[in-house]
Amino acid sequence: MANWQCISNCGACCYLEPSDRPDLEEYLIPQDLQTYLSMVGSDGWCIYFDRLKRQCSIYEQRPRFCRVQADTFFEMFGVEPEELNDFAIACCEEQIESIYGDRSLELLRFEQAINQQGSLD
Ligand code: SF4
Ligand code: SF4
Repeated sequence: MANWQCISNCGACCYLEPSDRPDLEEYLIPQDLQTYLSMVGSDGWCIYFDRLKRQCSIYEQRPRFCRVQADTFFEMFGVEPEELNDFAIACCEEQIESIYGDRSLELLRFEQAINQQGSLD
């Protein structure tokens, strides 16, 4: 079984271009939507994403909707805690493929990371 985890040097989910996420209003409450839109840079990337280091520059203070956790995902997407793992994996795969491509090193590293535990069992 694959176990979701975030890999370093990715940041695919920090590309926030609203036209790529037409259903934002369906899962973000108005206040969060406002915050989200205020974070979108002119190039579509989050203004807090360090493109060189490929990491969040406000990691400890990042908004709730940036956090992969059970309560947030239930509120936003109605995902039950037992479904969170598979849902988060699917989200990351979609995002990584869209930003880096379906044959990218980032996707390969992600698949290796989430399947690592299974290979040890
Ligand atoms: S797309 Fe997934 S693996 Fe990549 S930075 Fe976002 S949460 Fe982490
Ligand atoms: S606040 Fe941080 S985690 Fe959230 S989108 Fe921006 S760079 Fe990514």
